[in-house]
Amino acid sequence: MVLLGLPGAGKGTQAERLARALGVPHVASGDLFREHMDRETELGRQARAYVERGDLVPDEVTIGMVAERLSRADCADGFVLDGFPRTVAQAEALRRVLDRIGGVLHIVPLVRVSEEVALARLAGRWTCRDCGAVYHDLFSPPREAGVCDVCGGGLYQRPDETPEAHRHRLQVYKEQTAPLVEYYRRAGLLVEVDGEQSIEDVQADLRAIVETACGGR
Ligand code: ADP
Ligand code: ADP
Ligand code: ZN
Repeated sequence: MVLLGLPGAGKGTQAERLARALGVPHVASGDLFREHMDRETELGRQARAYVERGDLVPDEVTIGMVAERLSRADCADGFVLDGFPRTVAQAEALRRVLDRIGGVLHIVPLVRVSEEVALARLAGRWTCRDCGAVYHDLFSPPREAGVCDVCGGGLYQRPDETPEAHRHRLQVYKEQTAPLVEYYRRAGLLVEVDGEQSIEDVQADLRAIVETACGGR
């Protein structure tokens, strides 16, 4: 499955829980880029300026990185994709990758929130340096300030978490990613979910959708 939604809609939060419940990997293109940047790989070097500005990394770089991840053995029984595809070219590439590895896209939930809610969520987001777990200083705080509940790692605010970068990313979404909503609607795969509910209620809606779409697979 692919999760769609504005930056800050809660895709990562939901994808992580859903993937754990389904026993499949959570594949987040943003996390893959951050890992490459931390390890200072060639790909990380190519991506850094785009990520820091809040622009999309060019399709050639992004598609190769995600295709490689989805081709690994742990994705053979399925995966939850978060943050990819973000362009129509990436969606076409995903179709080719799935053909090659014998996969089928079952469902594309769109986690719907207003821009105001997305901006409020982005403004308070804190991320674990060690495991990537995501918190919010008001809506989903860690038990101890600055410390990850999962692994005890330190929390930080990503360098692309500035008000200017947030506004820019919403604009980039409207121009480059929003066309995917119609793309997947036409393919009969899109299901809308109210993302302005609590984390638990959004998760319950997603589980019900997955049960209907993939229950008998
Ligand atoms: P995305 O991956 O779509 O950018 P995240 O999952 O990183 O979104 O969530 C953005 C921020 O909003 C995080 O700080 C997260 O803790 C918080 N958040 C996620 N879902 C909810 C929700 N349903 N209600 C309140 N805050 C949420
Ligand atoms: P958010 O959770 O705020 O939506 P992500 O962690 O998904 O952000 O992505 C962070 C940055 O990584 C993006 O602003 C972009 O620069 C880059 N990125 C992630 N996924 C893609 C993609 N599919 N195509 C191009 N760039 C991407
Ligand atoms: Zn952690």
